Amino acid sequence: MTEQASGESLYRKEPKIYPRQVTGRFARLRVVAVWVLLGLFYLLPWIRIAGKQSVLFDLPARKFYILGMTFWPQDFVYLALLLITAGLSLFFFTALAGRLWCGFACPQTVWTEVFIWIERWVEGERQKRMKLDAAPWNAEKILRKSTKQFLWIVFAAWTGFTFVGFFTPIRELGANVLSLSMGPWETFWTIFYAFATYGNAGYLREQVCKYMCPYARFQSAMFDKDTLIISYDSERGEPRGGRRKSLDPQEAGLGDCINCTLCVQVCPTGIDIRDGLQYECIACAACIDVCDQVMDKMEYPRGLVRYTTEHSLKHKTGHVIRPRIIVYGLLLLVIISGTLWGMTHRVPLRADLIRDRNALYRELPGDVVENVYTLKITNMDNAPHRYDMLVLNNDSVDIDLSRPLELGPEEVAGISVRLRLPKSAGQGVQHLDIQLQASDDPSIRKVIKAKAMMPIEFGK
Ligand code: SF4
Ligand code: SF4
Repeated sequence: MTEQASGESLYRKEPKIYPRQVTGRFARLRVVAVWVLLGLFYLLPWIRIAGKQSVLFDLPARKFYILGMTFWPQDFVYLALLLITAGLSLFFFTALAGRLWCGFACPQTVWTEVFIWIERWVEGERQKRMKLDAAPWNAEKILRKSTKQFLWIVFAAWTGFTFVGFFTPIRELGANVLSLSMGPWETFWTIFYAFATYGNAGYLREQVCKYMCPYARFQSAMFDKDTLIISYDSERGEPRGGRRKSLDPQEAGLGDCINCTLCVQVCPTGIDIRDGLQYECIACAACIDVCDQVMDKMEYPRGLVRYTTEHSLKHKTGHVIRPRIIVYGLLLLVIISGTLWGMTHRVPLRADLIRDRNALYRELPGDVVENVYTLKITNMDNAPHRYDMLVLNNDSVDIDLSRPLELGPEEVAGISVRLRLPKSAGQGVQHLDIQLQASDDPSIRKVIKAKAMMPIEFGK
């Protein structure tokens, strides 16, 4: 703890926030977002597509399985493109609609929401929770607190287990958990992620957004005066003050804000939206929902707290289409189309022809010259394939393979290849274009360049 010379502490303990439950259109939207996003997180690893876990980042094998596609180390450019797309989307949607991500899709928001649901279910609504925390320890408090802790821990452990299930086949992991035979790293990461979920969503909550999240710091750089923000209309709301419903605010010289403080009570970060735009605001829109309900009760128009823009608040004309929106939008369009094109046109075959270093060439009876290679071939597909090999630019080449070109799913093979050319085919280096094509799928095709060495006969 830091102390000033006066002895006054510079450390201020964060007061605990007891967000009040809110209903309304944005609350419903967040419930949908929680179910969809967490549903995907918890279910995806259990779903199998084409015989593989639907999403599996198999780091030891250096292969990623995503929705039936297998990504090999040489495909990591797609992963980089996906990350760039995610970053640019964040820029685009932030410039357009402010902190949509924070309020509805950020893992911190989504998991905190579930932890608060559990807390509310076990300990009751805001007032009850405050009373319970202030009460001395008794049987009821012990029972409620321990039930909450138990449910939090189970949920966090399930989250940690699922997280590791994206990196280790989840069915095997489940069997290992049941037989208590998890490996040390799997155990470590399950506990680590479970602990991080428990700590961040159970205790740190809004402090992660306020003090730890870098996005909260730099998102304001993406804002302009036409970005959608959640704002209190002070022109309409002030001067604030309590009143009877029957009182005409204009006659009483009051604005529309009845100073009920409900917008502060529902705020998960504990701020007062009436103090203006603050970086702590995660744009969850809870204050909009609750204020709209107050306005309905008072029979005032809705929207005292609403999604708006700075320009709109100052009665200036706003522009949805702005240079930064166009730039972000175009970049996104180009990168998404390029990534989709690349992924859909990806040929799941990799082949290299490596010359035998021991002999330049070998002369065989019958005026035939033989060059020996090793074909390094990888079937990057989830299905087995048989490949046909053909020299495209020289009809006289005879191909001899040490084994048929048949590969199982994701098989890597090294096959000895002998190319035999009649001496009459030429002298010195012969450039060959060799095509490999799956016999069951002509779109799986690769052309590799090879050099065949031929004797040079001087004086001829
Ligand atoms: S909920 Fe609306 S009326 Fe109540 S204090 Fe907040 S802004 Fe004012
Ligand atoms: S001020 Fe409103 S939108 Fe911002 S975090 Fe609080 S409740 Fe959510």
